[in-house]
Amino acid sequence: MTSEGSSRDEGPPRVDRSAEEWKACLSPEAFQVTRKSGTERPFSGPLWDEKREGTYHCVCCGLPLFSSRDKYDSGTGWPSFSDVLERTHVNEREDRSLFMRRTEVTCTACEAHLGHVFPDGPPPTGFRYCINSVALEFHPAGEEEGSENPTASRERRGPDESSA
Ligand SMILES: [Zn+2]
Repeated sequence: MTSEGSSRDEGPPRVDRSAEEWKACLSPEAFQVTRKSGTERPFSGPLWDEKREGTYHCVCCGLPLFSSRDKYDSGTGWPSFSDVLERTHVNEREDRSLFMRRTEVTCTACEAHLGHVFPDGPPPTGFRYCINSVALEFHPAGEEEGSENPTASRERRGPDESSA
């Protein structure tokens, strides 16, 4: 299971943007978390208490990452999932920062930092994907998902009328 770069057969297409480009299309909080590996304050994000059915997408590139059917209330104040939607959409790698040994979870397509996965989740997987709200974009079930165009979410996100 060591991935030295060349094992992206079924993975989603890569989304590559500069820090400046990400900054322009993300909220400051989302930028800090996804591009700087930050962590939002617990109970501060919009999605930890979201209970509707739907899909959670990467806030950066729109890739679907988690489903409401795997979401559960972990009591931590962060959205928590017992599994991922698509194995190839989420990367896991060891994170030894802060003198802890944790497993970082990132988006395969754009390498956004999402959160961490811990081995103390509920059955059947036993995993707890502890994900920052601001790294996710919730799409309620039933909503049309016609476009996979990342610029669509960019337009909704901010006033972009400055320079034409
Ligand atoms: Zn992404």
